[in-house]
Amino acid sequence: MKTVSLKCSNCGGNLEVRPDVTELACGYCGATLTVERGGGAITLHQIKDEISHVRRGTDKAVAELAISRLERDLSALSQKWNERQAQAKTQKSQTSILLCVVMLVGWGVAALLSMSTVEGAVYCALFVTVGIAILWPILAISVSNKMNSEGQRIAKEQKAIQKRIAEQRDLVDA
Ligand SMILES: [Zn+2]
Repeated sequence: MKTVSLKCSNCGGNLEVRPDVTELACGYCGATLTVERGGGAITLHQIKDEISHVRRGTDKAVAELAISRLERDLSALSQKWNERQAQAKTQKSQTSILLCVVMLVGWGVAALLSMSTVEGAVYCALFVTVGIAILWPILAISVSNKMNSEGQRIAKEQKAIQKRIAEQRDLVDA
């Protein structure tokens, strides 16, 4: 049977290939080669190469999926943070309104008291005003402390996700 002269795609060694052969091992480097016939040409391909090529392609596809998932996580996180900030703002103004109402009621009681004893009215007004003057900043500080620690936690989480995105981008660009 007539043989065809082909070069090993791995080491370039000259191989004599019989036309009916579809797969062979290179006599020089041992690479497993497939014989491909198409368009009148016969070529050799190293099987390992193709598999690693496919593997690389698969890894890239997986990395791209991971990137879009991580980016979704990232935007969900910043959305959550925005919602949390809006919530804290609402909470703050609700607390302010509540404290104002308490103060007005206290002053109202003081006004009623002033009809019988002026001293009792002054104490009542003072008590309500001082109490709120102390309570207000304490509440405001506790809310802003809570938001700060939550903001730091979210920033940390965002950083970790961004790092993972960068790692996956490296895989895609490799
Ligand atoms: Zn070879």
